[in-house]
Amino acid sequence: MTVSVKNRRLLVGGAWVEDKELLPVIDKYTGEGIANVFVASRETVEKAIAAAHAAFPGWSRTPAHQRFRILEKASRLLAQHQEEIATIICREAGKAWKYSMGEVARAVETFQFSAEEAKRIHGETVPMDASTAGEGRMGFYLRSAVGVVAAITPFNFPLNLVAHKVGPALAAGNALVLKPASTTPLTAVRLGEILEEAGVPGGVFNVVVGSGGTVGDWITTDPRVAKISFTGSPPVGEAILRKAGLKKVTMELGNNSGTIIEPDADLAAAVPRCVVSAFANSGQVCISLQRLYVHKSIAGEFTKRFVEETKKLKVGNPVEKDCDVGPMIDEGEARRAEAWIREAVDEGAKVLIGGKREGRVLYPTVLANVRPEMKVMCQEAFAPLVSLYEYETFEDAVRMVEDSPYGLQAGVYTNDIRKALYAVDRINAGGVMINDTSIFRVDHMPYGGNKMSGLGREGVRFAVEEMTNIKMVMIKP
Ligand code: NAP
Repeated sequence: MTVSVKNRRLLVGGAWVEDKELLPVIDKYTGEGIANVFVASRETVEKAIAAAHAAFPGWSRTPAHQRFRILEKASRLLAQHQEEIATIICREAGKAWKYSMGEVARAVETFQFSAEEAKRIHGETVPMDASTAGEGRMGFYLRSAVGVVAAITPFNFPLNLVAHKVGPALAAGNALVLKPASTTPLTAVRLGEILEEAGVPGGVFNVVVGSGGTVGDWITTDPRVAKISFTGSPPVGEAILRKAGLKKVTMELGNNSGTIIEPDADLAAAVPRCVVSAFANSGQVCISLQRLYVHKSIAGEFTKRFVEETKKLKVGNPVEKDCDVGPMIDEGEARRAEAWIREAVDEGAKVLIGGKREGRVLYPTVLANVRPEMKVMCQEAFAPLVSLYEYETFEDAVRMVEDSPYGLQAGVYTNDIRKALYAVDRINAGGVMINDTSIFRVDHMPYGGNKMSGLGREGVRFAVEEMTNIKMVMIKP
């Protein structure tokens, strides 16, 4: 399998530009260099922001039916190039082939949803005479594009998490400057070509690559940027918030997701689903299943089946079609997760399977005998690592899932509607999935976190709301 990319340029003001430095991008399994990308200097970032700023008025006035057609074409082009783009994701992110193909398929839908959303961005009338001061007046509000959106994205979904910002921003009539993760910039550059071919005018969509501390910081602090849409880790999110000044922001941050398994759960469905939820993309998903609370009456049976199912996972080179678990993004991250496992074991945890690391590859690891204060439980692991915890009462389990600084998504397996509703009521999170795990997501649902998991929501329609301003119009006859 080969990727036909070498020195990749940056998309700035409708032109593909070079710069002084090159950043090598490696295959995360073999370590082989697959391409170099030009690193944006301050001058290039300045040009990208200026281009977006200049392109905004024209794009925001482009009729909705045209924005629809362009986004729909982008969706079709992604579908046509699914295998080629999946290969880029697979190699630069180390994501198993089937999940890389799945990510492209989701981005096809995200752009399709964005195209559709472009046609239904509207306000509503306001009953002015509800106030005595409003009698005899007519009122309504419009939604207008905010201007330049800066999209700063992580490595773990280099296409679909970019699509979640780019699609809605373009649908709403905004211009963009995208800074992808430095470890996975090739997919973003390829998306630039797709959008160009789809007909996005020059300057409306710009891609600049470079470190968060330089390129990320320059776009965060630029006063011409009206909105920052960030997905990444909580510390970086907080740093951006401190520097952004008076800008709109959306923050999609981390989680240490929990799922509860009640005795009435259908184990034949729950066990394989929980295994996929813990280990897909080597656990590097913000809603990966990390804390698994199992009722003590079924804990023995569940654990046996869970370990058996985990044993079946094929670990190795993600380009192989039957690979389930590939490498982590870098060896430092794999070592960090390995150290957390060792620390937990020193404090009394038991490794039921896994715990082994070879370079960037951490084998799927299941821990038991864990305690809530262990790092593997109370911090975001972001690794192929799940901890099983036996609970006595459902109320205890819900309290433990909720006892987290994060609040992105949680899962509950139960067919008892009272228990399901109790969990929905008590868990302070952006989403509670009944008879599924924390990992469930489709791309049009509202998605985002509470507490340290973030601010605002994505999911195309909801992202459009975050990327538009309300303009109130009052008419006095
Ligand atoms: P990260 O280290 O926070 O990086 C995310 C992006 O921010 C990268 O493009 C990074 O650039 C950039 N960045 C770093 N420092 C910056 C700064 N000072 N100013 C501006 N930008 C800066 O996150 P990651 O390791 O790529 O991704 C993993 C994290 O993302 C996890 O915590 C995960 O839970 C979270 N996540 C959340 C969601 C969600 O929807 N809630 C989805 C996926 C991932 P460089 O690459 O150059 O450092």
